[in-house]
Formats: sequence, C-alpha cells, structure tokens
Amino acid sequence: MSWISQKKAYWKDANHWVCPNHLPAVKIPSCLSHCWYSSCNTEMPKKPESIAQTSKILRIFDPASCQWEKCTEGQGGRRGLITTRKKYCSNKCRKNQARFNYTQRKKREKANA
Ligand SMILES: [Zn+2]
Ligand SMILES: [Zn+2]
Repeated sequence: MSWISQKKAYWKDANHWVCPNHLPAVKIPSCLSHCWYSSCNTEMPKKPESIAQTSKILRIFDPASCQWEKCTEGQGGRRGLITTRKKYCSNKCRKNQARFNYTQRKKREKANA
C-alpha cells in the first residue's frame, strides 16, 4: 500500500506537533499522542530537546502578567499581560520598578546609617 506516502510527524512549537500526512498538514495539541484522524495512525514524535526547553521557559513566566505590582496597564486597570521572556508589559512599568527598587535601596541605606 504505497499510495499513501507516510511522512514524518514533527514538532511545531512547545504545545503542538504536526501530522504532515494530510492536506493541509494537521496541527495537533501535545495532549494527544496520536493524530486525531481515525484513518491515520501517526504517533506523536519524540519531543526534541530544544522544544522541551522552550516549554520550560514558558512555564517559568507563567502566569504572564506584568511583574510591576502596581501595574494598571491591563484590562480594567489590572496588571498588563506580558509576552514571553519579558518581565514588564511596558517600558513604563520597567522604569517604575527600577525607581521603586532605587527608593527602597535608599531607604535601607538611610536606616543603616
Ligand atoms: Zn494524521
Ligand atoms: Zn505593566
């Protein structure tokens, strides 16, 4: 039965792998260990090391809200959302945090003097 060319499945990102035996190729969430087409028996491929590391980074920064505790840049005055690898939702928050750290340090220095 060589009329179906069995291509190799591969990882798309930390949470999705791809079964290329369809047109277009099917993106499958990592919670499924097999392609969700019942006529297809492609198995989830082994996760490459680089992808596994990416998902670790994503977990560290979860939940993805601004690290500046007085941030009001988000919806309804809540903390703004951040993108991967960033701590603050905006430069404003980053500066606010830096200023806060600076004044805290000054206070401590005064207390120790
Ligand atoms: Zn498939
Ligand atoms: Zn913020």
